[in-house]
Amino acid sequence: MQRHGAPLEVVFTPQISAQITRMQAWAEQARMNAVYEGHFLYAYATKANFAAEVVQTALRSGAHYETSAAADVEIAHHLWRQGILPSDRLICCNGSKEPNYLSAIVDLRSDGCANLIPVLDDLDELAHLLPTPDAFQFGVRERAAGNRDGMHPGNDRFGLTTWEINRAAEQIWGTQHELVLYHAMVGSQIEDEDHFLATLRESIANYCRLRQRVPTLRYFNFGGGMPTSAYQLGFDFDYVGFLSRLMSEIHAVCAAYDVPVPDLIGEFGRYTVATHSVYLLEIGATKRGGPGSPDWYLVNGSMMVSLPDSVFVEGQEFIVLPLSDWDRPVRPVRLAGRRTCDSDDVYPRPHQPPLMLPDSGAGLVIAICGVGAYQQMISGRGGAHHCLSPEPQRVIVEVDDEELVARVVPQQDLATIMRLLGYQAQGLAVPLSLPRERVPVVLPRSGRVSATFGSARRNRRARF
Ligand SMILES: *Cc1c(COP(=O)(O)O)cnc(C)c1O
Repeated sequence: MQRHGAPLEVVFTPQISAQITRMQAWAEQARMNAVYEGHFLYAYATKANFAAEVVQTALRSGAHYETSAAADVEIAHHLWRQGILPSDRLICCNGSKEPNYLSAIVDLRSDGCANLIPVLDDLDELAHLLPTPDAFQFGVRERAAGNRDGMHPGNDRFGLTTWEINRAAEQIWGTQHELVLYHAMVGSQIEDEDHFLATLRESIANYCRLRQRVPTLRYFNFGGGMPTSAYQLGFDFDYVGFLSRLMSEIHAVCAAYDVPVPDLIGEFGRYTVATHSVYLLEIGATKRGGPGSPDWYLVNGSMMVSLPDSVFVEGQEFIVLPLSDWDRPVRPVRLAGRRTCDSDDVYPRPHQPPLMLPDSGAGLVIAICGVGAYQQMISGRGGAHHCLSPEPQRVIVEVDDEELVARVVPQQDLATIMRLLGYQAQGLAVPLSLPRERVPVVLPRSGRVSATFGSARRNRRARF
């Protein structure tokens, strides 16, 4: 921070590996607790963050792959060809499939990738894929799980009704293809364990009924929804307890239906990436609030651009911490983005309580945590943003060859933004990048030290 100033985004990809490794260990613990014979498979739901360093880190950490769109399959195909996505990993293809999504799936399959599982969202998709000569492993997505509790309106547009699932099973039966996976997703960021389990219970019974007739069925996929500690300091969720209960439940229901337990798949979006990056913003000025309202801390960024979920998701919170002045008295304040002139560019939202931050005002630097999932994808990484708010400088810390290395991506410059908008930006006198500069040395693991230089050639990595 001292070297780079604010605004700054700090990306720390080892956190992604830590999340994955931890969940796999918890699942292993749960398997022992529940004496569960099935495997546990961790898939990364790439739509939470498609950044190359993110997806590649998840794959290096052993994650399977979940896609949501045609381009997502194209990226998977590319990574698979390069060997970055190993052939033993599953690729679950979810969501409604347009013709280009279906063609991307067929292309990847006919290129030889066999662990590709199109999860049917509509019977029309099956009609398109059935004639493919290469054998597919299919999944079906249960529509009922999406809004069984009435709490996730919009989520019930995905998947098939029981009648359609039976129809799909009949159509697949006797062909070169197999039906292998049952998908039931409840929602996102579900923090109530009892509710999560209660909602899945009926889906597990549905799996068992289908398994009685379809012996090739072997995966139960509960989708996303695994909560993360990213958004609340007091967050508390017993992951081992939840997974143990889920596995015990599946065990019991399968026994009642006399079918073998499935391998369990979770598709982790938020959980995988929410905590791997933070924004550091600086308070530039304090502005008096209206009568009876807290003052505004005006920051050198945009809340709407950096935290779009604060506007989209009812009640969404982010952890905001001061980087200094922890010994100063605190005062209630609201943050306002100085880089847009939009009345929505505030955090917390008007109906939420204000933040309590040190009273130091201008110069105070704050960290906004938990921004690694969805925020940049919704805002559009690298795009022209609201009020032309530039993307801040980004420091990306990654593991390379057992050591930590940092690289710097300069702040988005005006010429780039203008080009994106169709202006001829030639001759524009704006700096295209930062002066050549050494970046902070990150604590090495192996005793060796490495870092990179911000140079006119962007993102070039150097060692010393
Ligand atoms: C979005 C999505 C996920 C990831 O959800 P999170 O709540 O972010 O973990 C997983 N599976 C499917 C099918 C999804 O659409």
